[in-house]
Amino acid sequence: MDDCIFCKITSGQQSADVIDEDEKIMVFKDIKPSAPVHLLIVPKKHIASVIETKDEDEELLGGMILKAKDVADSQGLKGYKLVFNVGREGGQLVDHLHLHLLGGWTDK
Ligand code: AMP
Ligand code: ZN
Repeated sequence: MDDCIFCKITSGQQSADVIDEDEKIMVFKDIKPSAPVHLLIVPKKHIASVIETKDEDEELLGGMILKAKDVADSQGLKGYKLVFNVGREGGQLVDHLHLHLLGGWTDK
């Protein structure tokens, strides 16, 4: 998707503060953090939102949660929130699937 900001980031056309990356998923810092630690778990495949996911995306969706767990562990987080905003009515502003990882409110 040419005009998708997260496609630009995951393809390297636009810079971001990247924390982790593998073949299918990139993790980078949210540019406007809502928590002391606010990361976005973003698949490299363009899917607009949870609403647009299909059965074939089951492994990718599971992989996003497992990635969030691994990154949270590497950041020393013992507890955190994982949030999907879904559609405009659900607060989604960027139309490329992403999972918010929020944490860091308490001392480690
Ligand atoms: P959502 O409301 O679920 O669509 O969240 C989109 C998130 O993407 C927001 O928390 C934004 O702050 C974040 N965001 C938007 N543009 C960028 C960017 N270029 N780099 C990092 N995070 C971004
Ligand atoms: Zn995209």
